[in-house]
Amino acid sequence: MYTLGIDIGSTTSKCVILEDGSKIIAKSLVQAGTGTDGPERAYNEILDASKLKKEDIAHIVATGYGRAIYTSANADMSELSCHAKGVHFLFPDVRTIIDIGGQDAKVIRLNQQGIIDSFLMNDKCAAGTGRFLDVMANILQISINELEVYASKADNPVKISSTCTVFAESEVISQLAKGVTIENVVAGICESVASRVAALAKRNRVEEKVYMSGGVAQNAGVRNALAKELGTEILFSEYSQYMGALGAAIAAYEKWRKETGGKDHE
Ligand code: ADP
Repeated sequence: MYTLGIDIGSTTSKCVILEDGSKIIAKSLVQAGTGTDGPERAYNEILDASKLKKEDIAHIVATGYGRAIYTSANADMSELSCHAKGVHFLFPDVRTIIDIGGQDAKVIRLNQQGIIDSFLMNDKCAAGTGRFLDVMANILQISINELEVYASKADNPVKISSTCTVFAESEVISQLAKGVTIENVVAGICESVASRVAALAKRNRVEEKVYMSGGVAQNAGVRNALAKELGTEILFSEYSQYMGALGAAIAAYEKWRKETGGKDHE
């Protein structure tokens, strides 16, 4: 039997399909989040990719910022619980999750059973989130995927000292005008995000192993700067951005089992 998790974020929509609660059989991602047709497109794309039909999906759980207004799911669940479930499923040794998404950053500590011990969140300020990177990539006229490439070529990263995204934008422009290379500016931007999230993580005691989830996990510039700030290795995987959707698919399986006693309707 198949369950589906959908994570409707501020900037992206992600889906994961699980077979029998244990095997990931497909994933999809659309660069459009809540309030758009992104969730529906991600849902249709994953059905195409898995060659499944709507009727084949036994249960759907929605998570993410837009979960409450999504009407095609059987239930919804918080992002914190879903990230914890997803990470614990693939990496049971992880005790700290750092999730940096499009509009917030969360630090979640788990116990051995994968239950949340504590968490802290920054959802008040764009600095220290993917939004900061999106704004900066836009003014530098480079794609979000290229940030890590530029950062890796820096020889003297510039320090971005503004604590506000709007002021940081002017700071970046003035650094470029002074002749600082784009590589050193980009590395400084990645370090700025990392230092803000590291400060949040330190307030919540960082316990190894540390795993990074959310879209920003794909940026090696931020990952490396975070590892340096925290003095620990940062794990990540191709599923980092899908952890919320994966956790939702696991929750869907658990709910289905509870409701049906584990008996398939076929
Ligand atoms: P949300 O669930 O809030 O939509 P995600 O966890 O999907 O957020 O992350 C979206 C963020 O991830 C974007 O704001 C963007 O900055 C960042 N991102 C996405 N792809 C990449 C990439 N290849 N490299 C760096 N950052 C990325």
